Amino acid sequence: MTFVRDLQSALGIQSRFVMPVTGSDPRWLRAALVAQSQPPSPEASTMTVHDAVARAALDRAIDERREEREALVRDHLARRGIVDEAVLAAMRRVPRHRFVPEFVRQYAYDDRPLPIGSGQTISQPYVVAMMTQAVLPRRADRCLEIGTGSGYQAAVLAELCASVWTIEYHADLAAFAERNLRSLGYSVSLRAGDGYRGWPEAAPFDVIVVTAAPEHVPQPLLEQLAPGGRLVIPVGPQESVQQLELWTRSANRDARDEFERRTLGGVVFVPFLGDGGRL
Ligand code: SAH
Repeated sequence: MTFVRDLQSALGIQSRFVMPVTGSDPRWLRAALVAQSQPPSPEASTMTVHDAVARAALDRAIDERREEREALVRDHLARRGIVDEAVLAAMRRVPRHRFVPEFVRQYAYDDRPLPIGSGQTISQPYVVAMMTQAVLPRRADRCLEIGTGSGYQAAVLAELCASVWTIEYHADLAAFAERNLRSLGYSVSLRAGDGYRGWPEAAPFDVIVVTAAPEHVPQPLLEQLAPGGRLVIPVGPQESVQQLELWTRSANRDARDEFERRTLGGVVFVPFLGDGGRL
């Protein structure tokens, strides 16, 4: 029965529309499998069986520790100025406990950074929400993240935007993030390496989120912003307080090299490694 229920949700069938099933060849299952095997027409959904299985895995993970996540969003994020409903909804969905190592999992819904290995941390949920809200994510947006870490911020962006690319310096963390994201069915393009030069083949991006602190804004990232694009980045000395900066590229194509820069406040992020560390 468990198998039937899982497959049922894997195929995206809501149980309230399904008759109780008995026997080995239930009608709903046959119908669903026939629907899956039809050649795709331009109007048909492009969801594959694999997508559906992954979506069911995410739905199950979302059910785990839901109340703790609700409390975090209500008591820490909403109360401290996160007002974007879509961002709050994404923070309510993404199961943060699936992005942290076992030994800190019990603290996953505390509003604080946690260690993820290689001397790195998953950011505090409030900071993730604040940075995400700052870049005004929209459904059709293409996003780039520098500093994948656990993959958590990438998952939040994937909840809100059309596509996400992310780069992680440490190969072992890139593998950790890849496992976390794939096991929940998040479709994110991930690369291990120095994010200083961005991801030119996928540029331009509407949104760029940098989660490690360089001393100056990497020029390639500004160049890879689309007209009207937003970049949020902590900038400043390593091992000290940095300023969170929001850069917005002019939406006017004739003034494409004009940027507006706003400062959002003091933050402490891990250092930006590689080329951008000390310019
Ligand atoms: N966004 C992450 C938080 C990661 S902490 C999350 O949601 O879990 C910052 C990450 O940036 C670390 O994993 C660090 O290894 C990575 N990093 C630092 N410098 C980098 C660089 N030049 N290119 C890519 N990643 C970098």
